Amino acid sequence: MSIKFTAIPTEIANSWRNGGADAQGLLPEHRISDGSAPCRHCLKNIHEGKGVLLGAYKPFQSTGAFSEIGPIFICEDNCQRFESENGALPPVIAEREQFLIRGYSADEKIDYRTGQIVKVKELPEQAEKIFAYQNVAFIHIRSAAYSCFTTRIDRAN
Ligand SMILES: [Zn+2]
Repeated sequence: MSIKFTAIPTEIANSWRNGGADAQGLLPEHRISDGSAPCRHCLKNIHEGKGVLLGAYKPFQSTGAFSEIGPIFICEDNCQRFESENGALPPVIAEREQFLIRGYSADEKIDYRTGQIVKVKELPEQAEKIFAYQNVAFIHIRSAAYSCFTTRIDRAN
């Protein structure tokens, strides 16, 4: 089994860039990157001085207790959505030390056997271990310090 990293949909990024509301019904906030803001669409750090949109994002289809909404950054300018190839780590993951990961069922509930802080070099292996639980449908990678949604991992096949 192999894994792939799934960035936020291009439709969301384009909607925000074109004046659409975020998951709280508010307009995303314009900021200037200090060089450390990770874009959840291209999964690269946004270069210092570049425009950033900060908005609330819900990485779930359903509504319920587990359907957390939280802050994410995206490039204000158009960027290319990250495409997973051969399980290679996205730049925003590879350039950091550790992340919080946790598995979810197909009906988008946390699987409480799965949550852990992992070193980046161990992340693919730990993700495969989590996917060994058949009821885990996808995994979230979240900031270890702030728990912000970073990207999602799916089974590649
Ligand atoms: Zn971007």
